[in-house]
This record gives sequence, C-alpha cells and structure tokens, in this order.
Amino acid sequence: MVMRRVLTVNRNLLLIDVHAHLNELEELEKDLREARRQGISVIIGVGMCLESNRRILAIAKENPTLVFPAIGYHPWKIKKPEIRENLAFIKENVKHCVAIGEVGLDYKAKVKKQLQRDVLQEIVKLSIRYHKTLILHCRYSHERVFSMISDMGVKRAIFHWYSGSLDLLRKIIDSGHYISATPALMYSPQHQEAVKEAALERILLETDCPVSYQGHVSKPSDVRITLREVAKIKGLSLKTVAERTSQNAIGLLGPFDGGLNH
Ligand SMILES: [Zn+2]
Repeated sequence: MVMRRVLTVNRNLLLIDVHAHLNELEELEKDLREARRQGISVIIGVGMCLESNRRILAIAKENPTLVFPAIGYHPWKIKKPEIRENLAFIKENVKHCVAIGEVGLDYKAKVKKQLQRDVLQEIVKLSIRYHKTLILHCRYSHERVFSMISDMGVKRAIFHWYSGSLDLLRKIIDSGHYISATPALMYSPQHQEAVKEAALERILLETDCPVSYQGHVSKPSDVRITLREVAKIKGLSLKTVAERTSQNAIGLLGPFDGGLNH
C-alpha cells in the first residue's frame, strides 16, 4: 500500500500540509520539488472558486502521490449569478477529492451574510451526502459556523487557522472536530493560545500558502515552521508533533493511496 510506503520512507519526520493554495504559487514546480526534498509527503491543495478548483484538480492529477485535492467555494468568491454553477461543479467532482474546502463564512467580507449562509448550507449538505470533511474559513463568524455545522449534524470539520475564543474551541474539540495551525504561530497570540489549548490529537499542520507571514511569502515546505512552532508551544519534540499531526491528517483525510480518490 502506498500509504504504508509513504509512512516508511519519511518515518522520522513525515509531514503533511493540509491547506495550500497551490494554484496561487508563482513557482509551483520548484516549490513542490522543494517540499519533497524537505520531507513533506502530502499536500492538500484547496480551491476557492470554479477556476481554482479546476487548477487544483489538475495539479493533483499531475502530482498524484504528493498533492490531494479539496474543492470549495470561498465566501470571498460568492457572486449570486455564479452560485449554481459553482455548487454543481463541487457536486460533480467531490468524489475525486479528500475534502470540501475552502468554505465558510467571512463577516468582514462584502458579500451579504445571508447569501454566505445560504451557500454554506448547500455545501454542508454536500459534505454530509458525500462523507467529506469540511475545511472551514471563519472570520468574525466562528460561533455561527459552529452552530450551523452542529445543527446540520456534521461529524468532521477542520477549523482552519483557528483564532476564535477558547470557550468555543473546547466545544469544537468536544464535538470531534479539528483545528489547523499556520506559521502565524510565530506572532499571533490568539492562534498560539488555541494551539496551546487544543489536544495534539486534534491539531493539523498547514501553511495556507502563499499567504505572507510578516513579509515571508509562504510555500508548502514552510509547514516545517508550523511544526517548529507547535512543538515549541507544546514542549514536545519535532518528531512527536510531526508523527501525531500526520496521523491525525491520515485518519481524517486519508488514505493517501496515490492518485485521485475514486
Ligand atoms: Zn486558505
């Protein structure tokens, strides 16, 4: 099994980046080569709209043992006339994906809140119907997103780059969901507090590349920065954090068995 091979090859420091906007990287081939060299075994490419979803699926097909796709409809991208087409694309292609994302609510965005909620509701239905983990973006909307997915019976979700309240974090963890950590741990007190509070068993590592962290434009190999920061906060070895978070990702999104999931 390829999954077992992946685990063996980089047993010392198996790393998984669960959130990468690969379609936005300027030097994709170079960055993927670098990621492989740095021991990153799996990268989850996330889409935000029709165009990026198509690109992510293509990149995954071109790099079948490294890149695994998630497709979504980001609140920033929602435009009323395009909703139907975006949802139809997700429905048609979700079977090739390891998750649905990036999706969620962004209450700082200009898109009307009700419209965002209507779209998210349809996407949550798809995630339940096709048994796919949700990769959630929440901005000034953590409580609302949590109550929506709870009311609809979602079992597995990743609250990406969690920086909401610790009270809500406890509910998120108690409900069986996960948070993912980014290189923002280098400087964001809210994000640090969340990682400190959550059990390692519920933490995943990511980069959200190519997001710029204090001027550093990120790439998938920077998941090593996230690893280093989580290890520092938890007072654990790099090896322990790498192994545990990778097992978390495999359990939630795997098996990563070489090629698009069918
Ligand atoms: Zn993102």
